[in-house]
Amino acid sequence: MTRKERIGIFGGTFNPVHSGHVRAAAEVRARFALDRVLFVPSFIPPHKETAKVASPRDRMAMVELALRRYRRLVPSPIEIEAGGTSYSIVTLNKVRALHPGARIFFILGADAFREIETWREWRRVLEGCQFIVTTRPGSRLAGARDALAEEYRSGVLEVRPTTRLSEAVFAAFRIFFTPIDAVDVSSTDVRTRVRAGRPLRGLVPAPVEGYIREHGLYRIPTP
Ligand code: ATP
Repeated sequence: MTRKERIGIFGGTFNPVHSGHVRAAAEVRARFALDRVLFVPSFIPPHKETAKVASPRDRMAMVELALRRYRRLVPSPIEIEAGGTSYSIVTLNKVRALHPGARIFFILGADAFREIETWREWRRVLEGCQFIVTTRPGSRLAGARDALAEEYRSGVLEVRPTTRLSEAVFAAFRIFFTPIDAVDVSSTDVRTRVRAGRPLRGLVPAPVEGYIREHGLYRIPTP
């Protein structure tokens, strides 16, 4: 079977991007031999309170700083440039147009995957690409599988670090669940620490910490 180009889409609010995001994407990229992983910050996050969210420009700048050392982890402004509410179906169609013939994988944590049926046109998203679902501390793979509509459960493959991923396996399964060596951090933790004046101690890449301090982000509770 000919190898297709493999593109990962890692979407998020990235408010701010942290070491857990970078570690998870790097690990998934290597394990699935993805040619590149696009980090796509959302413009207006549909499921989050917008008042506490740093500007799209700041979130994008921090993603660029975080990925400077990673050739295959690539910041993508597609949702920010589009403006308005960011929907995965729209992003998927744009990435597909930019990479015709590629296998496209949405990369997301099990917590986010559990909410997939709330996404706009979720069946079309689910049928239009593939998924790599990672575990993070506190979330369980089995729960995420059970949350999925029954007709899609047979398309799930649980991938261990030793699993051989051939093109045939990629052709046969749609959703790959994989445990990762996750860093126990969330953007909420980072914002809480900054506001309390506590050190970030490696929870975000050093240049991102510098950017947060320099621009005074997350210091004042926004109304
Ligand atoms: P918040 O605390 O503001 O909710 P977050 O840390 O969950 O933010 P998001 O930008 O909402 O970050 O997440 C983007 C994606 O990254 C989601 O798929 C989420 O599951 C995943 N993710 C977040 N934190 C980690 C982590 N520590 N390890 C692995 N994946 C993570």
